[in-house]
Amino acid sequence: MSNQLIICCECYRQELTALDLPARYEDVQVACFPTSCGMPPLEWGEIKKNLPDDSRYDQLHILSGGCIKGLPEENQKLFKHSNCQLNQCFHLIVSPELATYYMQKGCYLVTPGWLQQWRDIIERWGFDQHTARIFFNDSVRSVLLLDTGTDENAQTNLEEFASYVNRPSEAITVGLDHLDLLLAKTILKCCLEENGENTKTLADDKNKELADFFIALDLLSSLARLRTEEEVIESTKEMFTMLFAPQEVSFISAEECVASQEQEDNGQSSDSFSVPVTGSSGLLGTIEIRKLKLPRHREQYKSLAARIVNVCGLALENARHYQQIKDLSEKDGLTGIANRRALEDHFENEWKRMKRAENPLTVLMCDIDYFKNYNDYYGHQAGDDCLKRVAPIFLENCRRPGDIAARYGGEEFTLVLPETDLQGGRRLAEKIRSAIEALAIEHMNSAVSDYVTVSIGLASTVPSDGSKADELLALADRMLYAAKEAGRNRVVTADL
Ligand code: GH3
Ligand code: MG
Ligand code: MG
Repeated sequence: MSNQLIICCECYRQELTALDLPARYEDVQVACFPTSCGMPPLEWGEIKKNLPDDSRYDQLHILSGGCIKGLPEENQKLFKHSNCQLNQCFHLIVSPELATYYMQKGCYLVTPGWLQQWRDIIERWGFDQHTARIFFNDSVRSVLLLDTGTDENAQTNLEEFASYVNRPSEAITVGLDHLDLLLAKTILKCCLEENGENTKTLADDKNKELADFFIALDLLSSLARLRTEEEVIESTKEMFTMLFAPQEVSFISAEECVASQEQEDNGQSSDSFSVPVTGSSGLLGTIEIRKLKLPRHREQYKSLAARIVNVCGLALENARHYQQIKDLSEKDGLTGIANRRALEDHFENEWKRMKRAENPLTVLMCDIDYFKNYNDYYGHQAGDDCLKRVAPIFLENCRRPGDIAARYGGEEFTLVLPETDLQGGRRLAEKIRSAIEALAIEHMNSAVSDYVTVSIGLASTVPSDGSKADELLALADRMLYAAKEAGRNRVVTADL
């Protein structure tokens, strides 16, 4: 096997040391180059000076977050190199999705190694405390430590740095799994290429282990892109099935694990095992793998599973975070139904879809009658409660796949109903109107009823080149106005 040298920023020295690569892989060495954060990229000459004098290598792996300039061409002849340029060096220790998520929240990401050097780095940037505070207060909501668990002083350093720049601080545990897998992938890929063999045809046990690992890494990297917990769980199960060929793979959530704690040792028979899935928030669940086709590999499988399962945990947490952001951007905070933005996106798509299909599209604009009077009489809190009670009626009446109900703003709700014509829309609108009246929410300050009521404007059309989506909304709005004028608590309709 050829010698591989992995080089990485000084900031990640402790993480590399903790992973102890030279002990785990044959002919693998590690070295660090000086931190150049926020400064001009380092050049090869600078890096070379920092490599150990006696380092011999056929293959160089450079791990960096855009802080290195490309290697000079002639080096290609001396040794092969792979330049693992990540967009951000944080992607060494967390998935890009997770890093982006926190950065979008306004977090300034730091690592234990960076925090050890923060005073030097700030000085090199030419900041004093005053200018550093101006810089950080302008652009940063909080300082977030991605804690790899390699420096016991990380928390203290974090607090010192955060107070220096006058920003709040927080920390999440990320561990070393992401880096471990990234490095394993880099190293093993190189070994496999050198073997010149197809991964699937590797036969002996040692190579089988390598090949399994390699397959796992490819599967794992696709996990990080999945957006829902269900997808992550399904893909995780598929991955374990592919790797270990068991008859059964199941995922037991943390809640279910607690409920069935007595049966904890289930996975301990000779052809089965289980692995806990953890994330930064603790135990997320357990994967149970039963009836292995080749039980003689059980120990090897178990250790592979243990090494890759935490990435499944990270992917699961990623998916949760993603859903939370998505909900925040698409749902109304008070009622939990879609917000105006989600409705407008959906409406645009349905408009195009109905135009292609030459099918009708109907829009309902609904507005609570005398709602200002309701607030005046019962108070704003009661007004909010009323909106929460009314909202489900709109949602319940969206039965078909393309239907959507949204809080358009204030006390206005809008429904978009594809493949629905004027008559069908009118029936539905009338059903909604009477269902809200039937809720019998007392409204002593309404001039039209003793209860909360709504007025509904409806507009319908078969979208065509000659019509515009905005016109349909505007017409529904005019019909709503007409319903108010005609006495409220009623439905008024129009064909575009
Ligand atoms: P109309 O029958 O003509 O629709 O009269 P209205 O009083 O319902 O209409 P107007 O547009 O004059 O007033 C709407 C009121 O809805 C004003 C505002 O206080 C109230 N409102 C809007 N959003 C909220 C909310 O989120 N919570 C509460 N409690 N009230 C809201
Ligand atoms: Mg209104
Ligand atoms: Mg109103």
